[in-house]
Amino acid sequence: MSSPSSTVVIGGGIAGIACARALADRGRPVQVLDRGRRLGGRMGGRTLHGRPVDLGASYLTVSDGSPFAPVVAGWVDRGLARPWTHTFAVAGPQGIERTTSGPLRYGTPGGLRGLVTDLATGLDVQLERTVTRVGSDGGPTVDGDPAAAVVLALPDPQAARLLEPGTAIAGRLQPTAWQPTLAVVLDFARRSWDADLHGVFVHDSPALEWIADDGDRRGDGAPVLVAHSTPALAAEHLDGPERAVPAVLAAVRAVLGLDEEPEWTHVHRWSFAKPTDPREEPFAVADGIGLCGDGWAAPSKVESAWRSGHALGTALADPTD
Ligand SMILES: Cc1cc2nc3c(=O)[nH]c(=O)nc-3n(C[C@H](O)[C@H](O)[C@H](O)COP(=O)(O)OP(=O)(O)OC[C@H]3O[C@@H](n4cnc5c(N)ncnc54)[C@H](O)[C@@H]3O)c2cc1C
Repeated sequence: MSSPSSTVVIGGGIAGIACARALADRGRPVQVLDRGRRLGGRMGGRTLHGRPVDLGASYLTVSDGSPFAPVVAGWVDRGLARPWTHTFAVAGPQGIERTTSGPLRYGTPGGLRGLVTDLATGLDVQLERTVTRVGSDGGPTVDGDPAAAVVLALPDPQAARLLEPGTAIAGRLQPTAWQPTLAVVLDFARRSWDADLHGVFVHDSPALEWIADDGDRRGDGAPVLVAHSTPALAAEHLDGPERAVPAVLAAVRAVLGLDEEPEWTHVHRWSFAKPTDPREEPFAVADGIGLCGDGWAAPSKVESAWRSGHALGTALADPTD
């Protein structure tokens, strides 16, 4: 049970941990609850055949002058994150057409989840705790227990399950504006694609949106690709994601001109991968309940989720600022 003087943050993805960090760093008592066995949310991955693979976010970026920049610099200094690339390929369904350059993307040797775990060092975190109800009658409550304030750092459809419909804060949610993705891991016997590929944005494919060279971004050179499906293919296969693997594999082989079959595959379903219409404002608060995450501080990405959580935590700690 949380103390009535603590803020309770529901969701241990990067937004929830950034919010809790901002509160704790300002001396405010805070507890994080997450239903998962580990922190990280959509920056999660799995150890497959003895090697960590990122299944959610592929990389992170940081804008010039962002308050997130010193956090990322600290991870790079300590070897937790590594500059990966500015350049990806762009492909149509039949193959690679050109390259495109953008901001520096950072990868991690051990998996993006480790960055969230690092940010949570010293915080009061309870894992494997699924919250079912957040109330606002007579002050904020979490499954009936009073709290100083409550933060929902979750995709809107997950937050909507917890809030009473018709309340001011529930009215700020956009639960239908989220789309799914399937992440398909493909392990090959050898690396037979271009060593400078890094990743591929795929357009006009009914099955495939993105391919990441996981061995390249992690720095171990493993012959592993992670492909992200289109939202439409994912939506068709939410009840049986493994049935989508042949279509994703065929699309990857066509784009990269690969002849060989993978040694093994693994699929992960993200039912609420990204918001279709993230809000510009960084967060919302009403009746002692706050909302943050990558549905705020558009565009939706790791940096936005951190900025949203950090801004909400700072505002809750110093409401007069
Ligand atoms: C496939 C995919 C690819 C992506 N690629 C990129 C990329 O390359 N670059 C980039 O910057 N961003 C990318 N993103 C987006 C990025 O991952 C997210 O913006 C960011 O991780 C969101 O963090 P969050 O804390 O807002 O939410 P989440 O990470 O979703 O955290 C929510 C947490 O709430 C917990 N939770 C849910 N319900 C409950 C409950 N009832 N009780 C308790 N806990 C609960 C969950 O377990 C989860 O840990 C990608 C996302 C996906 C899915």
